[in-house]
Amino acid sequence: MSEFSAYNFKGQKALVRVDFNVPLNDKFEITDDTRMRAAFPTIKKILADGGMVILMSHFGRPKDGPEEKFSLKPLIQHLSDLLSGTTVFFANDCVGEQAYLTASMMRPGEVLLLENLRFYKEEEKGDEKFAEKLSKLGDVWVNDAFGTAHRAHASTAVIAKFFPADKKMFGLLMESEVASAEKVLHKAEKPFVAIIGGAKVSDKILIIENLLERATDIIIGGGMAYTFMKAKGGQIGNSLCEEERLDTALEILRKAEEKNVCIHLPSDSIIADKFAADAETSVAPSNNIPDGWMGLDIGANACDQFSNVIKNSKTILWNGPMGVFEMPKFQNGTKTIAIAIAEATQDGAFSLVGGGDSVAAVNQFGFTDKVSYVSTGGGAMLEYFEGKVLPGIAAVNS
Ligand code: AMP
Repeated sequence: MSEFSAYNFKGQKALVRVDFNVPLNDKFEITDDTRMRAAFPTIKKILADGGMVILMSHFGRPKDGPEEKFSLKPLIQHLSDLLSGTTVFFANDCVGEQAYLTASMMRPGEVLLLENLRFYKEEEKGDEKFAEKLSKLGDVWVNDAFGTAHRAHASTAVIAKFFPADKKMFGLLMESEVASAEKVLHKAEKPFVAIIGGAKVSDKILIIENLLERATDIIIGGGMAYTFMKAKGGQIGNSLCEEERLDTALEILRKAEEKNVCIHLPSDSIIADKFAADAETSVAPSNNIPDGWMGLDIGANACDQFSNVIKNSKTILWNGPMGVFEMPKFQNGTKTIAIAIAEATQDGAFSLVGGGDSVAAVNQFGFTDKVSYVSTGGGAMLEYFEGKVLPGIAAVNS
């Protein structure tokens, strides 16, 4: 593996795996270009060196071959604008004649975007022949797609075997994602608090179990907190509950005690008479919610309780909202946590926010620049924190 920053791309064609899976509206306009911007430092460095950039990405989930609505074409103009007018060539087929021809005619400073990799089912299958065909397009393979690093697909992992060790590397985005995750997982300054929220315990069991080995405190909020409350004998009314996970919740609490990790559950909740933005609301202890009511956010006491833990921490990991933050009546808990993390960060803590909905929340509340790092990878980040080896990372290191 080479180090990206130290590599000179002069005269080289860099085949860069990016994650350009951006949301489009029904007019095919990009509604959030965060993922495109995230790959920019990498693209710019290669161009500045006098290299050529060949971008490959997946886009959506096409079922059976090419489909117009999953084409990467709508991204061309925006990509060119972001690159201050650099000409961006486009190949209608990621491995066909046109792709090879265009790639062969590229000159230093030029960019080529390949059509959606998933128009070939071989991509997700991790097909070796397909990976080899892709590899022929470039001299160097740069993996900068953290969002798909947990997939052993042709372009994210299998392709690595067709490049010698000094011609494969992480891009700058991957480098910083890995460095931030490593800082939290293996070099965390204590106290280390993990804040885990969202809807389901079942999605977060593995991450909690891995964090039990590392964290000082684990804050559990959002819908998943009520499964814990019920497991401890509380009344949770109509709140979200995974009956089949009650034993798991008790097991997590038991292990935490054994390992001296402090688990914090919300002492009170904002309760609602229905799951709706215009619901009637009230406040109740989280373990004594009346029938017909459901907890949709953490209450004011829980906000204080959690904020105190956060402000006393030196390392903070946040994955998952504290309530139904999409509805204004139930966003206070998530917002308060974002404020506490921002304050702790200002006081010197390292904070990493990752996972789709907590990232959406920090963006929505304008806290993106007030935390140390916002991860671009939802599933990948979750799997990294579950302690799994990500194929996209292992392939570069191989
Ligand atoms: P996840 O994808 O598991 O991180 O869950 C995120 C979703 O959990 C968001 O859409 C929230 O609206 C939802 N959520 C958070 N708290 C609650 C709650 N108390 N009851 C129901 N849904 C919730």
